[in-house]
Order: sequence, then structure tokens, then C-alpha cells
Amino acid sequence: MRKIFSDLENSFKRKEEIIYSDSSLKIEKILSKAISDYEISKEEAIALFKSKGDDILKIYSVADDLRSKSVGSKVTFVVNRNINFTNICYMGCKFCGFAKRFGQSGAELLSLENIVTRSIEAWDRGATEVCIQGGLHPKISGDIYRNIIKSIKKVLPDMHIHAFSPFEVWYGSSKKKLDYKTFLNDLKDCGLGSMPGTAAEILDIEIRNKLTKNKLSSEQWIDIIKTAHSLKIPTSATIMYGHIDNPEHWAMHLSIIRDIQKETGGFTELVPLSFVYKDSPLYLENPEYVRKGPSTEEIKKMHAISRIMLNGWINNIQASWTKLGPEFAQKLLKIGVNDLGGTLMNESISRSAGSNFGQEITAMEMVKIIRNADKIPARRSTIYKICETYESHDPKNLAPLVSRKGNDPLKFIN
Ligand code: SF4
Repeated sequence: MRKIFSDLENSFKRKEEIIYSDSSLKIEKILSKAISDYEISKEEAIALFKSKGDDILKIYSVADDLRSKSVGSKVTFVVNRNINFTNICYMGCKFCGFAKRFGQSGAELLSLENIVTRSIEAWDRGATEVCIQGGLHPKISGDIYRNIIKSIKKVLPDMHIHAFSPFEVWYGSSKKKLDYKTFLNDLKDCGLGSMPGTAAEILDIEIRNKLTKNKLSSEQWIDIIKTAHSLKIPTSATIMYGHIDNPEHWAMHLSIIRDIQKETGGFTELVPLSFVYKDSPLYLENPEYVRKGPSTEEIKKMHAISRIMLNGWINNIQASWTKLGPEFAQKLLKIGVNDLGGTLMNESISRSAGSNFGQEITAMEMVKIIRNADKIPARRSTIYKICETYESHDPKNLAPLVSRKGNDPLKFIN
């Protein structure tokens, strides 16, 4: 009897080996296509996401080679400040731990004066960008978006304004009863420099229905992004993953982003955003069905496979240190990532949703993290123009704007 079982076990093992080596061969074929700069298909990206064992290491190695080929050894960051001008929002997105209702503790709507004061403070600390986003406050006027831009530009004409997600553009334009093009054109005339491509989540109807009740549909997100690009307003691209989604959705999403880029060329970078579950209604209401964010392996694969899939189309893959922490973000620099995003000064969206990471990494700290990964640090503009490379000198060593209460984000390298 025991012999029968051991024979069976061996035959299963052999079968597994055969299947495994078949799939390894498939992965190798996909990777050799990618390294020769051929495009990989959605189906091939799914196979990469589903890869196992040593195949994963091969994926990382190819992603690193493609990063080196397209952007070299420089790793960039931008000195910026996040200004979330309101967190009051009634849209009820299930993944959101940021929105508050009127009267709830911590609910706020910043005045224009306050937004300008924060921008001046950022400029004085060397920021070249303010990143402005807010909730869809039911009582704001559709003019708030242009008023914010104009107020900042009046005192800081050279500050780059990276502002307003497609959801905010949808909201503002509907409040003003304008089409996207007219609304965005006006914002551009006021001084809008670029837009965050947030609110993309996963561009799949079924998933979006569960995440946002499809209030901003995939078609609307794509339409607003393409309209912005047609007006020469560049945007970032994002994907939010690790909740109720799977590799098929990820590959499909990346393929849509690539198709848009082929048509418009308006994306500056892709920023994968891992789902932060802690305070999100999505998780709290359905803990048995909703994942607690992507696994470590999925995060690594997402960044590496994004590099491979977008090769030749989007050169910049950014790691979000607010979601992942600086130590993990640094590790991704070896598997396809070439940008660490902004210094931020005040980050509140990820922290409100339960992310544990701090609200600022100073320019000096960015430089240390990048050098420690054997890469060359460089400060960039919002649209990826290199402003300063730190090969033999350091940036000004400023204390963080808001005290981190003794938390040292660099303790992993000090
Ligand atoms: S994700 Fe944005 S639109 Fe949705 S509830 Fe949160 S703040 Fe509102």
C-alpha cells in the first residue's frame, strides 16, 4: 500500500515538474521578447503575474535591465508639498479611509489664504510643485478649482501646480455645466501644469461598481485623461490593487494605460498604489472577501511587470513610499523602479486610510536612500526634467516641516 502511495506521489511530482518546466519555458519566451523590446500582450502579462519560483527572479532581472536601458542609473524625486484642501466628501468610495462628513472630527475645508500660505511655505523650502487634491465637498462651487490655481499663481508664478484628479474634474465640470475640454482648458489658462491620474483604481466595470458604485466610470476616467492630454496637460497614471481584484484585472488595466499612451503620449509615469485596508469601509464591511492589500510578492511583481509591459511607452515607474515605506520602496529600485515620487511635506490620504508611514522624506533623506541603493540621486521637475544631480554634493539639509516625533524613516540604513 505504502509503495502505491509513494509511486503515486512520485508521478504527481514528475507531472508538477513537467508543468512547471512548461510554464518556465513560457516565461522565458515572454521575457526574451521583452528584453528585445517587443511588446508583451495582456495574456503574457497575466502569465508573468502568475509566475512562481525562480521565474519571478528572472522577471525582476529583466525589469531591472529594461530600467537601466531606458533611464540609466539615475533615480529621481521631486521636492513638493501635498495640499489636501478638503477631506469632506459624500461619494462613499468603499476603499477610501480619507473622506469625512460635516461635523466629523478632523473634517476640514482649507481657505484659499491657507492654501496659499502652505504653498509659500513649500516654495521657501525648495518645493517646485504643489500637489493639490481634495474630496468632492457637496457645498463647494465649481469655481474653487480655478480659484485655487489663480490664488497660488498670483504669488508664486513659477510654482508647478499638479492638481485635481479626474474625479474632481468630473465634479467641477458638472457643477459648472461645462464639458471636460472647456473646463480643463480654463484650468490650464489659470495655470494648471499637470494632473494626478488618480481615481483610476482598476479600469474594470465590475470591480469599479464594487469600489465606487461606478460613479466615475472607466470610460469617463479615460475620456478626462485623454482630453487633458489633448490639451497638453500631462498626467500620471495609477493602479490601485490588492483588494477584490486579480492578475487578469491588473494586466487589462496596464494594457489600457499603454493604449492611451500610444494614442496621446501624455502620461509622465505609472504609480502603482497598494490598497491600504485598515480604515477602508471595503475591508471593514467585508473582511472575509476583501484582501488586506497586495502581498509583498505581488507588490514586487506589479512594479517589475509594469516596467516590462510599459517598456518603450512610459519610462518612469514610481514607488509610493507613503504606501510602502522607504525601506520597501528602496528595494524596488532594483527591480524596475526609477522614481521615488515627492518629498510631500504633508501627506494625509494614505495616513488617513491607515498607512503607517510618515508625512515627509526630506530631499537629503531621498538622496541617502537612493545612494544606499547604488543609484545616482537626481531632483526632477514634475514632468521629469532633471533639475539637479547629486553625484558629489548634497541638497540643503532641512529639518522636516512637521515634527516626526522622533520617528526616523531612515533607520534601516543608518
Ligand atoms: S476616494 Fe475621493 S471621491 Fe471617493 S470618497 Fe474618498 S475623497 Fe471622496
